[in-house]
Amino acid sequence: MKIRRIGIFGGSFNPIHTGHCVIADGFIEQCSLDVCYLIPTYHSPLKSAAPSISPFHRLEMCRIIARTHPKLKVWDGEIRRKGKSFTIDTIHWFNKNFEHIELFLLIGQDQANLFRQWKDYQEILRQVRLCVVRRGDEDLTLPDFNEVGGHHVPRVVSTPRIDVSSTAIREAVLNKQSVRYHIHDKVLRYIRRHTLYTNPVC
Ligand code: ATP
Repeated sequence: MKIRRIGIFGGSFNPIHTGHCVIADGFIEQCSLDVCYLIPTYHSPLKSAAPSISPFHRLEMCRIIARTHPKLKVWDGEIRRKGKSFTIDTIHWFNKNFEHIELFLLIGQDQANLFRQWKDYQEILRQVRLCVVRRGDEDLTLPDFNEVGGHHVPRVVSTPRIDVSSTAIREAVLNKQSVRYHIHDKVLRYIRRHTLYTNPVC
């Protein structure tokens, strides 16, 4: 019986950018994934404000990127679920709806530092292989999660560091500065077509 290796990569993706794409590609390759799901959140629990653009725009931009990689797919379950998007609920959904799978969860270093604040983080660690990618200039120091019991040291996915954030892109678009090469051309065209991020509250 073949076990399918499934990657879960969640985020606000407001918008999805080159940093996301590069780490998703490294995740797929280094963890030998059969498929990786981009999972736009409805509302990330650790972010104070919900994204101001419609979740359907964020979803659509993820779909544009998924069409550029044969192993990327999009799962819209967190947006359909609404409310706070807890990863543990998503993991339960995958375990309930797919058989013979092994789950891998990708997060950036900033989220690894906050991981103990995630709902049911100990349960998450028992259900998935946690993978962390470096972000920013800090050295990558990973929590060992000894308190969970068993061996839960996260796996490092090493990719070139891309110093891009959705916040910086939203600000640049608002200020009419170039974001060329920071996001995929087709995503940029989508942003322009729908005049996204032209309002200061974005
Ligand atoms: P924002 O600036 O709006 O907070 P963001 O750029 O951090 O957004 P998210 O959608 O919140 O993007 O990120 C989803 C996941 O991708 C997180 O785990 C985050 O750590 C990781 N990530 C985002 N950008 C990068 C990057 N440039 N390099 C490495 N990891 C990243």
